[in-house]
Amino acid sequence: MADDPEIVWASAAAQARAVRAGEVTARALVDAYLARIAAHDGAIGAYLHVDADGARARADELDAARDRGEPLGPLAGVPVALKDVLVTAGLPTTASSKILAGWIPPYDGTAVARLKAAGAIVLGKTSCDEFAMGSANEHAAAGPVKNPWDVTRVPGGSSGGSAAATAAALCGASLGTDTGGSIRQPAAFCGVVGLKPTYGRVSRYGVIAYASSLDQVGPITRTVEDAALITEVIAGLDPRDATSIDAPAPALTRALGERVRGLRVGLPAEYFAGELDPEVRAAVDGAVELLRDAGAETVELSLPHTRYAMPAYYVIAPAEASSNLARYDGVRFGARAGGRGAGLLEMYRATRAAGFGAEAKRRIMLGTFALRSGYYDAYYKKAQQVRTLIARDFAEAFARCDVIASPVAPGPAWPIGAMASPVDEYLADVFTLACNLAGLPGMSVPCGFTRAGLPLGVQLIGKALDEATLIRAGRAIERGAAPALAERRPRP
Ligand code: GLN
Repeated sequence: MADDPEIVWASAAAQARAVRAGEVTARALVDAYLARIAAHDGAIGAYLHVDADGARARADELDAARDRGEPLGPLAGVPVALKDVLVTAGLPTTASSKILAGWIPPYDGTAVARLKAAGAIVLGKTSCDEFAMGSANEHAAAGPVKNPWDVTRVPGGSSGGSAAATAAALCGASLGTDTGGSIRQPAAFCGVVGLKPTYGRVSRYGVIAYASSLDQVGPITRTVEDAALITEVIAGLDPRDATSIDAPAPALTRALGERVRGLRVGLPAEYFAGELDPEVRAAVDGAVELLRDAGAETVELSLPHTRYAMPAYYVIAPAEASSNLARYDGVRFGARAGGRGAGLLEMYRATRAAGFGAEAKRRIMLGTFALRSGYYDAYYKKAQQVRTLIARDFAEAFARCDVIASPVAPGPAWPIGAMASPVDEYLADVFTLACNLAGLPGMSVPCGFTRAGLPLGVQLIGKALDEATLIRAGRAIERGAAPALAERRPRP
């Protein structure tokens, strides 16, 4: 099995089982992925940095530990890719921005440290939209990532590199972050599973902040089981993140075997209205049908403030971003411009002008405007009030259902360069933003393909801290959809 390339397509859970059982060495797995990255990532561009030596060394340590009979963790030997907003000790971390070029952090963030402690091996850092701002991985200093199903198309974003790497078997599994959809939407566009846990479920310590009241770390994986396993590993209280929740880490792998009979699946009218792409609608209807076949009931309901999610989000997220990005000024982190002898203000100006890309600058300006004295009440405060109404919509809906199903995005992955304006790109987030505004867990599960062969996903939104129900429903969809999706793989 050690030289069987088939294992690179297996789930992370299966890889860890094989490593623990001695059927494959961690080193063989790492070498197989490094070979695939060398052969295929040129066409995709998922990785910004590959730590070949570090990954091989860690794999050898793990194999030696196994030979000594030491117990191995739940992710033993699984080669993982990390979105480049996740801080990694000794590995370049740039958030896909020129302004952080050359920054090598001295520590691992909590989610990364927990993955490593569970036996995962870091293969490298993946591209994303600059500071996670975007929906297509087109706002990356290194250029766009390509969708492995069709390299003329975007992989989604902002965690596009992680999703593309997972879909193309350039890693066993990956981590992304989701502020307004950045795990779920690229997962859907690339035909893999993405789970955004409840806000506070996973520590944000060591996550480069975009919008701190929305950011959350989560897995992008090839199977629902992997999403459960990785979330279990990375979740839980962390004293270094004051917003992390003091609740026991969820027993998600146990939920995998639980049936959905009697589960009430809410279908919000607002998510199925308007110009929904007929292929998206058919795929989502098909996923809901699978849940019904497995014994779930459907409940029609309304989330009346849905249409305010996009405007509220695009005030709150840029406002928080403008504050979070103030720290990049050439003094403490990354690149500096301005030349010797330039004054301090000139150095700030030159560093920020040269270091940030167009979308990051747009967000800083939008956010600074929204927070200006005299405007705060009209924009930021109003958006926060809308946020409360959106959270209340969900609270009322969850009195009548256990989980909500909807599309992830209005259509499949679009051609690179096709978005005519920033607002068009913001509008593409219409189905994912409310979940973050309300702090709820959300998941994207593959449920079909367009006629042109592009993957489609269904979104499941759960009650706060109820990732288990997402896993349960997601597993039922995965089981039901498997015959139709089986044996379809992206070209590379
Ligand atoms: N597309 C959204 C934005 O640009 C969401 C990004 C994210 O979740 N990081 O803000």
